Amino acid sequence: MKYTTLGKTGLNVSVVGLGGIPIQRTDVEGTRKVIDACVECGVNYIDTARGYTVSEEYLGEVLEGRRDKFILATKTMARDYDGMKADIEKSLKNLRTNYIDLYQIHNIKTDAEFDTCFGENGAYKALLEAKAEGKIGHIGATAHGLEAFERLITEFEDKIETIMFPFNIVESQGLELMKKCTEKNIAFIAMKPMAGGNLEDGTLAMKYILNNPDCTIAIPGMGDAKEVYENCAAVDAGELNEEDKAACQKIISELGKNFCRRCGYCAPCPQGINIPSNFLFANYLRHYGLAEWAKGRYYSMEKTAKDCIKCGVCETRCPYELPIREMLVKVAEDMK
Ligand code: SF4
Ligand code: SF4
Repeated sequence: MKYTTLGKTGLNVSVVGLGGIPIQRTDVEGTRKVIDACVECGVNYIDTARGYTVSEEYLGEVLEGRRDKFILATKTMARDYDGMKADIEKSLKNLRTNYIDLYQIHNIKTDAEFDTCFGENGAYKALLEAKAEGKIGHIGATAHGLEAFERLITEFEDKIETIMFPFNIVESQGLELMKKCTEKNIAFIAMKPMAGGNLEDGTLAMKYILNNPDCTIAIPGMGDAKEVYENCAAVDAGELNEEDKAACQKIISELGKNFCRRCGYCAPCPQGINIPSNFLFANYLRHYGLAEWAKGRYYSMEKTAKDCIKCGVCETRCPYELPIREMLVKVAEDMK
């Protein structure tokens, strides 16, 4: 494993960290195996979120007795003072610790959210208080859109120490702003290194990210020990060669921009459609030739793309501004 300094925080972190989303699909024993593998591979950074259902709790349980071996980061969608204060307490309790190294304002997007968060009675005030009380060590933010990323790096550079933003083979829109992070010594944390599960070759995906000098660390979601070993293997995989670059180009031309990252922010759909699953099964059909399997899974869902009434609610929530309605029409056609 290689280690680096997490920007202004001064924390010494492994370049591969554990993204805690997939902890939700396992149980406490599964989480223990993931953490054991992290210890074995030298991964010392763990990122989770209040919104990842049981993730904080499971991690808290298996970190008992070894919490000091890790740098713990979590985040919340709370925007106001009371909400943030309450969420910090919940995270501390769930993670069974009296100290969280990095607490992040999660998925900040609109002007109204910025105004609330950094306003008089905003989430930021609660974070500052928690920092003064020693409950958290550092403050960061996460964003999915370029506009929010730019605001964070230009208007709030003195308030935040880290920025988490999507970065992977097919999402390089943040490259210029990442350079600014380096200039300002704000750590850049690569979110969604596997493009929400759309990238098959994990080693290539991690190699691509870790070879960018403006990326401080990457936090692939890992739900079992095998994924930990695979992702950590990329640390020693060296520089991107011509073959790797050609493979990246092929992926870029195949996937394009309009793909679902399976973040789930579009839910709930009033029609009960599981939007990311619809896209996932369609991907299996289109890219991997798994027609029978994909259609089997697709038709086992109670509601599918054809049930969309085109209300558009989901599109207002999607941080990537995907034309979900249009994409679902295509899914319904492909799945016929
Ligand atoms: S546009 Fe379709 S998928 Fe989106 S919320 Fe409305 S019914 Fe659901
Ligand atoms: S459609 Fe958008 S919001 Fe919904 S899961 Fe996909 S990327 Fe996320």
